[in-house]
Amino acid sequence: MDHFPIFLATSEKKILLSGGGEAALAKLRLLMKTRAELHIFAPNPAPEIVEWQAAGKLTLHRRALSAADLPGALLFYAADEHDALDAENASLARAAGVLVNIVDNLHDSQFITPAIVDRDPVTVAIGTEGAAPVLARAIKADLEERLPVTLGPLARIGKGFRKLADALPMGRARRDFWRDYYFAAGPRAMAEGKDSVRPALKDLLQTHLAREARAGHVAFVGGGPGDPELLTLKARRALDEADVVIYDRLISPEILELARREALMIDVGKEGFGPSTAQEHINTLLVEHTQSGAQVVRLKSGDATVFGRLDEEIDAVDAHDIGWHIVPGITAASAAVAGIGQSLTKRGRNASVRFLTGHDMKGFADHDWAALARPNEVAAIYMGKKSARFVQGRLLMHGADRATPVTVIENASRADQRVLSTTLNDLPRDLADAEMTGPALTFYGLAPRAAVQAATQTPLEELA
Ligand code: SAH
Repeated sequence: MDHFPIFLATSEKKILLSGGGEAALAKLRLLMKTRAELHIFAPNPAPEIVEWQAAGKLTLHRRALSAADLPGALLFYAADEHDALDAENASLARAAGVLVNIVDNLHDSQFITPAIVDRDPVTVAIGTEGAAPVLARAIKADLEERLPVTLGPLARIGKGFRKLADALPMGRARRDFWRDYYFAAGPRAMAEGKDSVRPALKDLLQTHLAREARAGHVAFVGGGPGDPELLTLKARRALDEADVVIYDRLISPEILELARREALMIDVGKEGFGPSTAQEHINTLLVEHTQSGAQVVRLKSGDATVFGRLDEEIDAVDAHDIGWHIVPGITAASAAVAGIGQSLTKRGRNASVRFLTGHDMKGFADHDWAALARPNEVAAIYMGKKSARFVQGRLLMHGADRATPVTVIENASRADQRVLSTTLNDLPRDLADAEMTGPALTFYGLAPRAAVQAATQTPLEELA
């Protein structure tokens, strides 16, 4: 984001504009919506500008801009549509410390004016940093249709009611009340006439005050492997409604973006072997926030039930009689196997697949290794980078074939996904060479489909 959107206070501030033609008119139509003091410099103003001056909407100076006009101004628009003149005026303004916009010249402007959807006091500003004005216009048209014109008056009436609504407990209850007002009770009352809105608001408040306070709740949500499009609709909705989101390190920023703006975001990221937030502390956070009535989303990567220490957290909330539910997600193994075009199970190859963690393989019994070392076994190894050499050693010791395919998929489903196709024999060396820093899933017994085909395809001439 190169241009940062802000809403500027313009009341009683001076805004200057040089120009009297089409570009000036377009900008003035917008600027006249503000309560700024508008000064227009135009030796030959369009008739509209003269009329606006007569109506007291702006001050017209029938001459060129001079340096003496600038001190104390907030903004300056160079709208003469004449490159040399605009540049000259812009440099006068810049010298006086006034922010400059040159119409249709993004490069030399210090700020740009967005496309605006006006439901005063609700204002939507749309900008594309000059990249796609067509897109900005399309979005504007879409919003103009979607936002009822009554939104402005509703917001103004609502504003005067905020103190009263503070009688509702902060957070969920208050939010539910306002949502009801803007999207149900408010528009309904407005249809009967503006005077019905305040009484309707009062009724609505009574109804909401009478409602029993909603109890806190935890949703254990699987955030998937990283691609936000692999979130379930339920996960999206939970994020959209959460008061508090407690998330792990592997949750991608694009997914965090989907949480409600007002939600409290708590990072309890656990580095594989590095600094971590103690599980105890996470449990405490879950309990404390739900006890104060919050809707908490405990966002875990992949599927929350796979190597996620979910049970400890469930036990902690259960101990306090807090309600919870699980929203399943796409686990890394599913994303990774999709990334190499394979199936997790296949008739005639493997009827079962194991999910292992490289983290505590040391506790793996001999018979487990022996079973895994048999031909055609498939295992998805989570957190397996550091333990690659150990796994290799154990499997070879129990008779596994050195040529067994092993595939490591880093950042599965993400834009920076990488696939390392190797064998049990070469795994530790190839993995070290690949210098993977992202989360990686290791498939023992699976090769990427393309490689499988290349190895087994019979050349045409041999068929003949
Ligand atoms: N609950 C998660 C797993 C948590 S353990 C799930 O169901 O996926 C963390 C391990 O998951 C990582 O060390 C890595 O092995 C794997 N992992 C998570 N996201 C991944 C991704 N996008 N690509 C590859 N592996 C991933």
